[in-house]
Amino acid sequence: MCGIIGYAGKGIRLIDLIESLRRLEYRGYDSAGISFLDPQGNLKVFRKQGKITELMVSVPNLGEVINTGIGHTRWATHGIPDDRNAHPHTDCHGKVAVVHNGIIENYQDIKATLQKKGHSFKSDTDTEVIAHLIEEALKENSPVEAFWKALRELRGSFAIAAIISTAPGKVFFARSESPLIIGINEGEYFLASDTPAFLPFTKKALFLENGQWGYISQEEVKVFTLEGEEISPQVTLIPWDISVAEKEGFKHFMLKEIFEQPRVLRETLEGRISERGVNLELPINLRDVKEITYVACGTSFHAGLTATYWSWELAGVPAHAITASEFRYILKRKVNLRDNLFVFISQSGETADTLTAARDLKKSHPEAKILGITNVLGSSLDREFPSLKTRAGLEIGVAATKTFTSQLLLLLLLNIHIGLERGSLSPEEYQEIYPQLVALPKIADDVLEKHELYYNVALKYPNYHHFLYLGRHLLYPIALEGALKLKEISYIHAEGYPAGEMKHGPIALIE
Ligand code: GLU
Repeated sequence: MCGIIGYAGKGIRLIDLIESLRRLEYRGYDSAGISFLDPQGNLKVFRKQGKITELMVSVPNLGEVINTGIGHTRWATHGIPDDRNAHPHTDCHGKVAVVHNGIIENYQDIKATLQKKGHSFKSDTDTEVIAHLIEEALKENSPVEAFWKALRELRGSFAIAAIISTAPGKVFFARSESPLIIGINEGEYFLASDTPAFLPFTKKALFLENGQWGYISQEEVKVFTLEGEEISPQVTLIPWDISVAEKEGFKHFMLKEIFEQPRVLRETLEGRISERGVNLELPINLRDVKEITYVACGTSFHAGLTATYWSWELAGVPAHAITASEFRYILKRKVNLRDNLFVFISQSGETADTLTAARDLKKSHPEAKILGITNVLGSSLDREFPSLKTRAGLEIGVAATKTFTSQLLLLLLLNIHIGLERGSLSPEEYQEIYPQLVALPKIADDVLEKHELYYNVALKYPNYHHFLYLGRHLLYPIALEGALKLKEISYIHAEGYPAGEMKHGPIALIE
């Protein structure tokens, strides 16, 4: 998740454009950038890894007033976070600038085709193909048509804002899955991933639907469907003040993140499953794996423990999970681990115990296969080891919610993939699993819709001091995670148990 802004209108100072971007900071980012047309109609781009303040320092005249501009805070999914991969991205000749939130699933195919046509790429991102696609289409089309044509090539989830130097005064936009909202003011229009970006200027907004695209200018906003039919969406008056809006109407970030789970599931699946199988673009070959060990701490450990069941049942590989801080004690003796896969899971990719365990293993058993699973591209785990990324975006709440869900889904996909590769899982069995994977985000939506029900359950028990969470099979690790959550969030003593263990001791505690 990241932030996008766009401006077309009577004039805005660069400092105010960047301030709008700053109001999207809460969404999490690793780099930031802006692009605008100067009075001579030249396209200018400034972008920096790190904080928005660093971007500000790199812009020579923050008081400059511009009429057409876009901005971006990036949460890297393709290409490490650095200046070169920061948005906006441009075409070969610096005439088109694009910011993008989401993932372009088919960027590799598009890139290969464009490279054959002579386009040269400057970044490792999926996003850059959009700028080159527009450039290519501009050869035979007007800017509006070129933007539309480029869009129809794209698959995946995206919110896009673009400026084209031959169409001064216009900012082009498109939305598919990732959020994009238009702010409407006298003589100016804004684009933003979330309303706080433009709330100091206007409370009048136009919420775009999936598949809608168009442009804003000083005079007008035009919205079209992907088929090219013009539509006039309804204008909404935003009632919240800024602080509430940043949490999108939720009381606190954790609640907001819980409700983000369906979207996160959708994004974690994106481009990774089809009727034919699972495509994880795995950095290592796992066909000959004979044993899998999941190593992690806290919530990530519970995700790993859940995955052990999938390894046995779907991948057909014996598996177990070890808490990262305990890992050092089992590494004492040299054994041949050539056919062993070790999956190190860390949301931040910086968990000290997990990193130490992975580094120790690499040193003592270089033959072992190591795979990292992390939510942060460019983190230590990601840089030092081949890894897969969950796509949950930044988590602000203290307790892991949406990141746990995305870890689980990615681990499930990993095990299905290994199962299919090894032949432990037949194509027929996968045919039964596939529709269930597709249905997951919707199921999560349905569960969340009943949130009042869970709230009422919680209201029954605020005065208890001890809680036992019991579960069997996949719900055993979930019971552990539930207990962990109650401890972390409510400061109430809680323990998770395999339900079958109840009779072997804990039952003595029941009053
Ligand atoms: N996929 C794009 C990138 O890695 C956009 C990521 C984002 O949403 O910030 O640059």
